[in-house]
Amino acid sequence: MRIDLHTHSRASDGTDTPAELVRAAARAGLDVLAITDHDTADGWAEAAAAAEEVGITLVPGMEISTGHRGRSVHLLAYLPDPTSPPLAIELARVLSGRESRVPDMLARLRGLGIEIDADDVRAAAHGAAATGRPHVADALVTLGVVADRTEAFDRYLGAGRVAFVNRYAAPLEATIRAVTEAGGVSVIAHPWGRGGLGRPDEATLAHLHDIGLAGLEVDHQDHDAATRERLRAMAREIGRVATGSSDYHGTGKVDHDLGCNTTDPGEYERLMELAAESAARSARVTPLATYGRATGTA
Ligand SMILES: [Zn+2]
Ligand SMILES: [Zn+2]
Repeated sequence: MRIDLHTHSRASDGTDTPAELVRAAARAGLDVLAITDHDTADGWAEAAAAAEEVGITLVPGMEISTGHRGRSVHLLAYLPDPTSPPLAIELARVLSGRESRVPDMLARLRGLGIEIDADDVRAAAHGAAATGRPHVADALVTLGVVADRTEAFDRYLGAGRVAFVNRYAAPLEATIRAVTEAGGVSVIAHPWGRGGLGRPDEATLAHLHDIGLAGLEVDHQDHDAATRERLRAMAREIGRVATGSSDYHGTGKVDHDLGCNTTDPGEYERLMELAAESAARSARVTPLATYGRATGTA
């Protein structure tokens, strides 16, 4: 059984529609696929219908942008009821924070004397559902302000640069509790990955286990072999699940092909058992839980 528990569709920053993502997963020989778009359940219904068609198990999930002690931490949530109020409130805050970020960045750039407005960014986004920093960078290239995206980030948009705007991140601990309360389970995505994300230390991860964290994403392209071994040992030590995933984004991210990392079937089974316990305790019903729980807990 081949299991990939972290993938993105066009519902966030992937390039496949949810249905295309599921069909690509079936072609890649996957039996279980989790759809985990950033901070949204928008792709679930379309993905579930496609999963039924092609006969693979779909685990509805999301990757929530959280913060912990000033660091950004991505939290994978599986099988939560997204309408559960504590979770729904955090997701709405994260999404509105993202939308307001671009206007704030543009205002700062104009404050520096750069003539740029929302239309420039929209043109650079080529119809993407949500605009973000990369699109602002592309607009700066088009306007001739910088030579390329890298220069745009180095001079203006990167963390700590003049036009950088921090966006809202849900508090990590409260979000883990909100996911549990919503009948789901949470796994820290690429805990020690690159890309400016924080590196929660071992004591922190052990503490997060106490408040309900179900697992750690161990096998991820951002982790080298030594990091994987250390995280795997840590997950074992604190009795948590170790997952492995591609973090596929379609053509939006190279070297993240579907199934390039997979989750051990035994680990997946434990994760689904924890999800079933969480759902039973919360008395909330995940809209598409049957897909996620069809294999693994039987
Ligand atoms: Zn991530
Ligand atoms: Zn991701």
